[in-house]
Amino acid sequence: MLNKILNFLSEDIAIDLGTANTEVYVRGRGIVIQEPSVVAINQKTGQILAVGIEAKKMVGRTPSHIVAIRPLKSGVISDFETTEQMLKYFIEKARKRKFVGPRVIVGIPWGVTEVEKKAVLDASKSAGAREVFLIEEPMAAAIGARLPVQEPVGNFIVDIGGGTAEVAVISLGGVVLGKSLRIAGDKLNEDIIRYIQDEYNLLIGERMAETVKIAIGSAYPLKEKKEFPVRGRNLVTGLPEEIIVSDEEIRKAIEKSVRQIVNEIKATLDETPPELVADIMVNGIYLSGGGALLKGLDILIQKETKIPTKVVDDPMTAVVRGAGIVLENLDELEEVLVETKELKPPK
Ligand code: ADP
Ligand code: MG
Repeated sequence: MLNKILNFLSEDIAIDLGTANTEVYVRGRGIVIQEPSVVAINQKTGQILAVGIEAKKMVGRTPSHIVAIRPLKSGVISDFETTEQMLKYFIEKARKRKFVGPRVIVGIPWGVTEVEKKAVLDASKSAGAREVFLIEEPMAAAIGARLPVQEPVGNFIVDIGGGTAEVAVISLGGVVLGKSLRIAGDKLNEDIIRYIQDEYNLLIGERMAETVKIAIGSAYPLKEKKEFPVRGRNLVTGLPEEIIVSDEEIRKAIEKSVRQIVNEIKATLDETPPELVADIMVNGIYLSGGGALLKGLDILIQKETKIPTKVVDDPMTAVVRGAGIVLENLDELEEVLVETKELKPPK
């Protein structure tokens, strides 16, 4: 009874705690926060100066005693204390009514260890959560894409975020087969930095590389040629310099990593039971996460697998929207949550 009242009063929250971006959904209100997973810290005092959008502006631009940290790497918590502070900040920012701690559903990458799960549980609890549930990101993305995850059919989803590309086959409310590859958006940025350095002796920052990728990056030749100005520091002269790069060059720069993601998809299809493959051939492959926005990735995957491939609507918010749907329908959807040793879904 008391629990029912608490559940009624609390402002429950779903979170996609991503390597690149964090999204927060509040029950009854929808997505209220969408910000980079970045924290700016003063190293002299240990004080947090900014979180999210404000902190991202500082990346690569801070005086030496101020560092802008991305506390999640490859989708898992690599810096526990900073993650906890960031979660606390976002949870507090999202909530309007604060007298009852919220129930919180957090998306985690597929295949993380018990230790990593516990880190997420603990960080959420100390950030004020009354109860914490975990959901695998590909499951949440599939629900966000409105795929029939609880039916006895094969659903194939590929979620490409900042740190990980997760491939999963989902049927009857569970992940039948999943793979997580630590090659995703961040790696493509690194590839671009490396390429520009090797070809032009020009050192560019992470943000510049991401801007180029979003502007002209592609996995498959574009209909129209594109060019983009890139600014950095010439490593020979030490002076600032601007060069123009083409879509073809960027495609070449990221080709190897893109190929690894495609191979992961093919390997997963290879291991999928035949009945489910038959479903997937008809229903298709679904792409979610910010990485799904890479131009021509759907075309390349479709060519390589011979299976129709679609980018889900609003791919960057698919995980948090899916987790939000679970939050609004906990009774019907509790089977999709991750069971952890510590916490069981509510009865
Ligand atoms: P996460 O959930 O891991 O935080 P997101 O789903 O938010 O990741 O996706 C972030 C990644 O998507 C970043 O690496 C970003 O560079 C990439 N991204 C965003 N938009 C595009 C785009 N238009 N083309 C290619 N990559 C993109
Ligand atoms: Mg995300």
